[in-house]
Amino acid sequence: MKTIYVDNAATTKMSKTAISAMMPYLEENYGNPSSLHTVGQLAQEALVKARMEVAECLGADVKEIYFTSGGSESDNQALLTAAELGERKGKKHIISQKTEHHAILHALNKLEKRGFEITLLDVDGDGLVTAEQVKNAIREDTVMVTIMTANNEIGTIMPIKEIAAVCKEKGVLFHTDAVQAVGHIPVDVKELGCDMLSLSAHKFHGPKGVGALYVRKGLFPSTLIEGGAQERGRRAGTENIAGICAMAAAMKEAVAKLGENAEKLTKMRDRLIEGLGEISHSVLNGSRTQRLPGNVNMCFEGIEGESILLLLDAKGICASSGSACTSGSLDPSHVLLAIGRPHEVAHGSLRLSLCEENTPEDMEFIIKSVKEVVDYLRKMSPVWQDLQEGKRKYVIQ
Ligand SMILES: *Cc1c(COP(=O)(O)O)cnc(C)c1O
Repeated sequence: MKTIYVDNAATTKMSKTAISAMMPYLEENYGNPSSLHTVGQLAQEALVKARMEVAECLGADVKEIYFTSGGSESDNQALLTAAELGERKGKKHIISQKTEHHAILHALNKLEKRGFEITLLDVDGDGLVTAEQVKNAIREDTVMVTIMTANNEIGTIMPIKEIAAVCKEKGVLFHTDAVQAVGHIPVDVKELGCDMLSLSAHKFHGPKGVGALYVRKGLFPSTLIEGGAQERGRRAGTENIAGICAMAAAMKEAVAKLGENAEKLTKMRDRLIEGLGEISHSVLNGSRTQRLPGNVNMCFEGIEGESILLLLDAKGICASSGSACTSGSLDPSHVLLAIGRPHEVAHGSLRLSLCEENTPEDMEFIIKSVKEVVDYLRKMSPVWQDLQEGKRKYVIQ
């Protein structure tokens, strides 16, 4: 049976280019870049080159790139940076929004316990926040605004440039979690105007456990991990050279092929939205237009997301019901609740996140399979029975 992997928002398969870029640093060039001998210096050179490549992909300067262990660490480091700055300046208010990744939301909870006041903006039915909302929420004591570039569950792309401009005008730091955006849609830090930006290699065919934080010149990141002088003293620990080189290679490749891949993914995405939209009492989650090229997220009334996933898996389709982080818990997605889906509907969600290895034939197979699975599950669902007999009202028309 062919496996159709459509869970690329959870993680991606490493590209051949990324694997080849990493191998020399696992085999012969295994040195520590802090060592003065030749083997160490080869690693040091690789680190310098990778930093240049990552910087170039983002339109940043090499001095503005800090390597981390991934998106979660970058997000935490960005928030800590703002928090320490805020504590020094007596500004203890941070603005974010309800559909952020848990790496942001849980780190904000921690800052709340540390005495910060957190404002979480509401999103509209598409999952969007406006620059106007941000502007109205900024106060005298606001130190930072953090809004994600693109949502990992529903694929909504936020108006980051406009939000960053408002923050700049008000003299407030702006960070964006661009983990789902880098390598998928154009991301240029200077053009966006952000002060900090998080990214993670395994979301664009690089390895897991490596990422970066962009920090604008003139701003110094706080140290989340204390120890040696790596990353200009801001992030201790012997560098993950193999991972960093693979990330740089994957990023270069993703950015070079971005236009071509986005076009291909958009076509497949739109076919899925069209085909799955034929299922009665189904709804697309997220914006129809401000949307990541490879993201489809839908709710089907009367069924549980988990059971759809198991039956699709049996057909070789690897999908998700939302974020990888909430699966396993019985709570419906905070993102779907934030866009106004009621609990019972939020439970019946399906996320399909595509990559360029998927084919138009895969899309047809997915549409056919989801239709069969939804049909099958509805036949057994007491909730669906009630809906059909008029004992209960449809939430999705
Ligand atoms: C995956 C993801 C993260 C976490 O990145 P890791 O590298 O897995 O720690 C953070 N934010 C968003 C939006 C993500 O999709």
